[in-house]
Amino acid sequence: MATFVTRAQWGGRARRSSNTNITPDRGGVSIHHVGGDRVARAAHGDCAAQVRGIQNYHMDSNGWSDVAYSHLVCVHGYVFQGRGEGQRTAANGTDAGNQNWYGVCALTGGSSSSYDTITDALVDAFHLAISRLRSSGNAASAINGHRDHRATECPGNLYTLVQNGRLNPGRRSHTVRSGETLYSIGRLYGVAWESIAATNNLSAPYTIYVGQVLVIPAS
Ligand SMILES: [Zn+2]
Ligand SMILES: [Zn+2]
Repeated sequence: MATFVTRAQWGGRARRSSNTNITPDRGGVSIHHVGGDRVARAAHGDCAAQVRGIQNYHMDSNGWSDVAYSHLVCVHGYVFQGRGEGQRTAANGTDAGNQNWYGVCALTGGSSSSYDTITDALVDAFHLAISRLRSSGNAASAINGHRDHRATECPGNLYTLVQNGRLNPGRRSHTVRSGETLYSIGRLYGVAWESIAATNNLSAPYTIYVGQVLVIPAS
């Protein structure tokens, strides 16, 4: 099961400006990776600093308003909140790409023959990120790769998972019945209640109501 890490938790800087000009119902979610070298950190404790470094590069070297991606995911099964739902990305390389597609970036890289290990936890993190962009960000169901927008090797070896559907979390949903709690619903599906909360953008005190439709992330 994947864990959501808020910007406050990873020490993100405030974005310089907001841009809600995005229509992801016409596109979906595009997949990225960091790049040509192996970059996955051995210890998860080092991942937040990696995300801060990417944000600094995008803001200070590229002059962008924020980290380019909607979310970032690591091989240990964590989703780092990027620009988030409803915010236009700067990741996809074309106006149409940034208009219609969110961007989720894996903290992986390498050449095709020597690539960071694509862990099940990384796939789980993609499922949580994409479920969230769909349930509270209005993303359409398509998933593609950066290279589908412009000439680039990105997302490297992850493109196979784009093509074979492994990154697609599906669209399980649950309609809340009387007496249910996030905890009991999580037990029902074998999913951590915290993942259900993150997927549906719920925060404390996690109020749910009868008849509410919740997206259930992959376990
Ligand atoms: Zn990319
Ligand atoms: Zn990590």
